[in-house]
Amino acid sequence: MTTLYELANPGVQKLTPYAPGKPLDELERDYGISDAVKLASNENPLGPSPKAQAAVQTIMAELHRYPDGNGFALKQALADKLGVAPAQITLGNGSNDVLELIARTFVMPGDEVVFSAHAFAVYPIVTQAVNGVMKIVPANAADHAMPYGHDLDAMLAAITDKTRVVFVANPNNPTGTWLGKDALYRFIQQVPSNVIVVIDEAYFEYVQEGDYPDAMHWLGEFNNLVVTRTFSKIYGIPALRIGYGVSHPELADLLNRVRQPFNVNMAAQAAALAALEDTEFVSQSLQTNSNGMQQLEAACAELGLGFIPSVGNFICIDVASTTGVNADSVYEGLLREGVIVRPVANYQLPNYLRVTIGTEQENQRFITALKKVLGKL
Ligand code: PMP
Repeated sequence: MTTLYELANPGVQKLTPYAPGKPLDELERDYGISDAVKLASNENPLGPSPKAQAAVQTIMAELHRYPDGNGFALKQALADKLGVAPAQITLGNGSNDVLELIARTFVMPGDEVVFSAHAFAVYPIVTQAVNGVMKIVPANAADHAMPYGHDLDAMLAAITDKTRVVFVANPNNPTGTWLGKDALYRFIQQVPSNVIVVIDEAYFEYVQEGDYPDAMHWLGEFNNLVVTRTFSKIYGIPALRIGYGVSHPELADLLNRVRQPFNVNMAAQAAALAALEDTEFVSQSLQTNSNGMQQLEAACAELGLGFIPSVGNFICIDVASTTGVNADSVYEGLLREGVIVRPVANYQLPNYLRVTIGTEQENQRFITALKKVLGKL
């Protein structure tokens, strides 16, 4: 008898489902703790943008209507802000949705998709689901100036006649590594024009390095470029699931053919529109993140722990190399202290834990719990 498994698309058979951070209420239930903190999903510790919260209230009487399937108002506002045309924008149910639309639009069975080792976990999922072939390129070595970052020359060398898409995360999750302006520009220039280049800028708004590029500036020059961003991070509304891609209008038109008719709900559109104008919230979030990053880096220095220098709202800390304790047991120990972080062994970083930057108090709670778990308190 044929099993259900055998009936599934071969790409789906090979898939490992995305493993999200442990939810707070699950930890509290399992460990009998009531004041746990979650620093596991790169969420904004300040909560949602207040303007976004207020906007969601205004749609309650409209819930019997379908959302605007074209996202007219939001696309217009984004277009004004980004200096592009509304026809260049594809709205997604999270930027994950846009990444998936790209794979479904351009990758046929047997086609190759190039991305770096330690890159964001959704690239393998969307590639395999359409029976694409993953070409995972070794990342920079641990002793490189940008340890575990994307090796653009190696990625270029991995592109063949069969390559349809290349995913570049700038900065990357979980490493927090990033690519400078000249290097990324030269890379895009050298990718053949029949390969779609995706620059995933989910953490764009957090990056303060002078040499960090805004890949949107290059859209006029490269018809094969898609830049993706999200409202899940600095704008603080991941619960509503909304992100977007910006590309040549013809590319956006193709993605639009695959898109589900109402993929972005009404609450998400209203909240995103309001969040875009919440510049005060964005600058507070940025400040909290810079302070928190310094706090965590200082704690690593104090404890003699290595970390991957990060420009995102998270940092990968090597809790194992110098301590002789394995990262899984540190993770478990932290859970018992009511602190949820993210193990990244599934990203081939078995010695590290990824910690989202929280409020000062949350960071302190993590630092104290870590000291206790490592026997350094
Ligand atoms: N890209 C990267 C690099 C990410 O880390 C994330 C979120 N974890 C996403 C894209 C997708 O986020 P969302 O679907 O919430 O927009």
